[in-house]
Amino acid sequence: MKISFLSPAVCMICGTGASPQEMPVCDLCLYKLQSLLTERCRNCGKPPRACVCPRPAGTDFLFFYGSPLSKRLISLVKTGIDRREADFLAALLIDSAGIRAANYDAVTFVPRRKRVARRYGYDQAKELASALAKRLSLPLVPTLVRRGKNAQKLMSASERRKYSLKSYYARDDVPPEFINKRFLLVDDVATTGATLEACAKILRDSGIAAKVSAAVLANTELKNTEVLR
Ligand SMILES: [Zn+2]
Ligand SMILES: [Zn+2]
Repeated sequence: MKISFLSPAVCMICGTGASPQEMPVCDLCLYKLQSLLTERCRNCGKPPRACVCPRPAGTDFLFFYGSPLSKRLISLVKTGIDRREADFLAALLIDSAGIRAANYDAVTFVPRRKRVARRYGYDQAKELASALAKRLSLPLVPTLVRRGKNAQKLMSASERRKYSLKSYYARDDVPPEFINKRFLLVDDVATTGATLEACAKILRDSGIAAKVSAAVLANTELKNTEVLR
């Protein structure tokens, strides 16, 4: 995690504009961010908050992945954001997607590979999940372990689906009070949705989750030929 001692804080997106006290982004970047959050889905024509395209575990998301700003935000999140920046993104996601604490018992996340988490010094999905949990006043409960060495980047959708189920397994140390509960599963990006689908299935099959809904920052738009069920 990045720790910033500089004051006044600079904008997390452009790194130059000064950010006001309550927000880690400058006015210009906030304006650009607002248009990213209302960018329309190429399939259903609706913005992220209202997109009706089928996604695994009913994935809520904040913006579509593809524009330079969306890529910039995700790269920031992957390489290290501080607590204030994570809180800001979590608040945007909760408000925009209308995530309600009453629908969940706990928040969990898709873990990063240990080696990668060590390289960056943190796990971005865990960081986001922690910010979401705090904001929703829900407990953060680690439920999944990641194994495997292959990065999914170069795989096709069907390869990803097969691979994802083998890449994760359920932790055996989930406290009994969190067994058979309703989980909000958090990740930074959903590409084909294969990872979220696999993790949700593992959580349900292991008995840890009675229900799983996913929330991510960015979602790649589905092509018409590849609608996930
Ligand atoms: Zn800025
Ligand atoms: Zn859509």
